Amino acid sequence: MGKFKRQTSEHDILIAGGGISGLAVAYGLAAKGTKVTLIDAPTQTNKASRANVGLIWCQSKFLHLPNYAKWGFHSASLFPALTRELEEISGLDIPVNYTGGLIACVGQKEYENKAAYIAKLKDLLGEYPGGMISRTELEKKLPKIGFGPDVVGAAWCEADGVVEPLALMRAYKAAFCKLGGNVIEAHIHDVCPQDGGYSVFTDKGQMKCERLVLSAGLSNRRFSRFALSSLPVSADKGQVLLVERMPPVMPIPLLGVTQTFGGTIIIGFRHEFIGHDTRIVPEAVASEGRAAIQIWPELGKKRLIRAWSGLRVMPEDKQAIYSRLPNHPKVTLINTHSAVTLAAAHTRHLPEFILGGCLPDLAQDMTLQRFGVDVH
Ligand SMILES: Cc1cc2nc3c(=O)[nH]c(=O)nc-3n(C[C@H](O)[C@H](O)[C@H](O)COP(=O)(O)OP(=O)(O)OC[C@H]3O[C@@H](n4cnc5c(N)ncnc54)[C@H](O)[C@@H]3O)c2cc1C
Repeated sequence: MGKFKRQTSEHDILIAGGGISGLAVAYGLAAKGTKVTLIDAPTQTNKASRANVGLIWCQSKFLHLPNYAKWGFHSASLFPALTRELEEISGLDIPVNYTGGLIACVGQKEYENKAAYIAKLKDLLGEYPGGMISRTELEKKLPKIGFGPDVVGAAWCEADGVVEPLALMRAYKAAFCKLGGNVIEAHIHDVCPQDGGYSVFTDKGQMKCERLVLSAGLSNRRFSRFALSSLPVSADKGQVLLVERMPPVMPIPLLGVTQTFGGTIIIGFRHEFIGHDTRIVPEAVASEGRAAIQIWPELGKKRLIRAWSGLRVMPEDKQAIYSRLPNHPKVTLINTHSAVTLAAAHTRHLPEFILGGCLPDLAQDMTLQRFGVDVH
């Protein structure tokens, strides 16, 4: 054992960032018997993991990236066993529905566009567990919702679902700790190579490790600078409205208007690329509200109780990045949107990659190599 190893025996692997991505791989590594320390300090802007809807959403996405579309379906298929396992180990409940998911179509044109998109996706993927349904079929699936007059039908997919995202994170964290994982709440100032390993400088002191995972969302742009002049990831602002609690009326989640496990309705359709400005914009609140009322007019009579924003972590080409850094094979970078949907795949497949193995076939093209960065 070398000098470096003796100094850092408690941190074989450090994970910088404990949002949903960091927790998913931390647990996955601990489940393989690996000793891991996770550092996290929820920050003002990097809080997508604590601001999202919790949809496990595979449908109607990524016609231009078929393997990525399959990756989402694959992750969704791994979810039931994962949540059972996490509940068992953590002793915590994870509210989750594997009931499929719906996208309401407002107007004939929207319905036809969606139908054409899904037809192409079906051709491309070979199998696709869903399709278009009529308004009558939609009403049968959600009989307690009075849909607006312009809703003509919906896209349906049985692989989708919804999980309580904070409960999933709590269970990941508790299960990780039960398996011997170490969580340190600290703000990371900087990361750099040192003594043949890596140093992470935090407000609780310097921590050294041999292997490093960068899963700090948008902060990865700063933390990867020692090896990369720029990381092709930007902030995609989402703004969410929360409507007062109702009795359970939505057993199947609707994209953009979803009932939470607590009974409130969460509304969120927007994507804005305006840097790190997380202020709530009144016009955006109004337009989100209008879109929701078109689908479900009764919402117009309900009280809006909260609004918040969050910055999605969006790679330039919208595909996840799982990559080593150039000349740093022991550093793994993880940056993706839809990290709730992908959490199960991250837990099951990324630990091997972090430990020096390969990515699974479906994810082979998801390294930084596609942006012209040499990571071999
Ligand atoms: C409004 C909205 C709705 C969404 N809905 C869904 C959905 O329904 N389904 C879905 O799959 N995805 C959804 N997403 C996307 C999903 O939330 C993100 O893909 C996910 O949060 C990314 O997780 P992450 O862990 O990679 O990054 P982040 O969530 O950004 O987490 C990064 C972590 O690193 C920590 N960190 C950062 N900087 C530092 C530092 N300097 N020191 C210490 N710690 C640091 C942060 O505190 C945080 O815990 C939504 C996002 C938004 C904004």
